[in-house]
Amino acid sequence: MHELGIVFHIIKSVEQVAADNELEKINAVVLELGEVSGVIPDYLTDCWKWAAAKSELVSGSELKIETLPAVTHCDGCGRDYPTVAHGKTCPHCQSGNTWLLTGNEVNIKEIEAY
Ligand SMILES: [Zn+2]
Repeated sequence: MHELGIVFHIIKSVEQVAADNELEKINAVVLELGEVSGVIPDYLTDCWKWAAAKSELVSGSELKIETLPAVTHCDGCGRDYPTVAHGKTCPHCQSGNTWLLTGNEVNIKEIEAY
């Protein structure tokens, strides 16, 4: 399962940060999730509850998800447009010569500790 792999990766990163900062207990983790990252937030929080319970450091902590909007840049006309509404075709010039600017992120934004 894709989401479970991400959760394990997050917990590993959090454990690293906690070790570096001598944190003993994590209250919440704020995650930035790109709109087209392909990650389903509901699955992610379910996996989080399951996986976090196995770690002394993060058990009982909350995973807060902030969605980042997806933006695509068009090389045809140089403009940006919302990816979800228009996909890979530029709504301004109909060019298909486009690439994803933001929206694929899975980033830890913040770690809240007691
Ligand atoms: Zn364009």
